Amino acid sequence: MALRNDQYNQILREYDNRRFQNKHDQDKRIKEAYEKVPELKQLEEEMITLAAQSGRMALFGDNSVMESLKDKALDLKARQIELLLSNGYPADYLELQYQCSKCKDTGFIENEKCNCFKQAIADLIYSDSNLKNILKRENFKTFSFDYYSDDYVDEKLGLSPLSNMQKVVAECKSFIRHFDRECKNLLFMGNTGVGKTFLANCIAKELLDRGYTVIYLTAFRLFDILEKNKFSKDIESSYTASNQFDYILDCDLLIIDDLGTELNNTFTSSQLHLIINERLLRQKSTLISTNLSLDNILASYSERIYSRIISNYSIRAIIGEDIRLKKTIGNLSR
Ligand SMILES: [Zn+2]
Repeated sequence: MALRNDQYNQILREYDNRRFQNKHDQDKRIKEAYEKVPELKQLEEEMITLAAQSGRMALFGDNSVMESLKDKALDLKARQIELLLSNGYPADYLELQYQCSKCKDTGFIENEKCNCFKQAIADLIYSDSNLKNILKRENFKTFSFDYYSDDYVDEKLGLSPLSNMQKVVAECKSFIRHFDRECKNLLFMGNTGVGKTFLANCIAKELLDRGYTVIYLTAFRLFDILEKNKFSKDIESSYTASNQFDYILDCDLLIIDDLGTELNNTFTSSQLHLIINERLLRQKSTLISTNLSLDNILASYSERIYSRIISNYSIRAIIGEDIRLKKTIGNLSR
């Protein structure tokens, strides 16, 4: 997973900035809390004095005194937390806060790249995808069942769009809960606008928040990258594409959105098989969304792809009306 030096340095600089910002934010919080609750500042001073005393005592090796100093330090800490909570602050308000508590915003855990670092690389490579902004709008908190009707039962599924969606969402949440233990793959099928992409984004957000690496690509863009990987004569762009391919095979979750909207040919078919197969071998989860029916998948791609999907993916139909259309009409009539 090589990265160009300037890209690597750019990420390291971002980590530096993040840590600098963390310290700045902490100073601000401390200043504000001390102004509001002066006793917190006195406590801090007592703690510093105590730490200095302990340091001196440690030199003399006087254990009984050391123990009593330790107890005193614990008392001070407890009093500090009590004060913070009673003033409406969280208990860790005065501590440094990290975006990634696993690596404390260093990007590394014992010389190994932290997952947040890997995600930063993926984000950098796909710098034209603004997934993060989309995920602020499209997540389980903003997800609404209101768009799914309970007025009729779909013949094939034997469920109303609403009960079907409730079932699918519950399964998605279970997929997330068991993500570290179980390699599962999902295929969302359904017409345009029924919320397949939204649901995929909900899952992406939850997993990113839990520190997994997620790559989201529309089928169109995925095959565009692969095409460049294979055919580009331009060394610079083929180098980037080859990096991208590594991540596509190796990220914790790969989302291929809108399968079937790409320009389909033998190349896309063979590449899709390679990705699906390789990720199965590596025990990495893949989520595919498509407007195609299973018959269409068989007709558009190969028998091999079809059988891989049938036997390794949980296939879920999503039904309902076109939500985008509903939203637009809703906005117009407002
Ligand atoms: Zn991290």
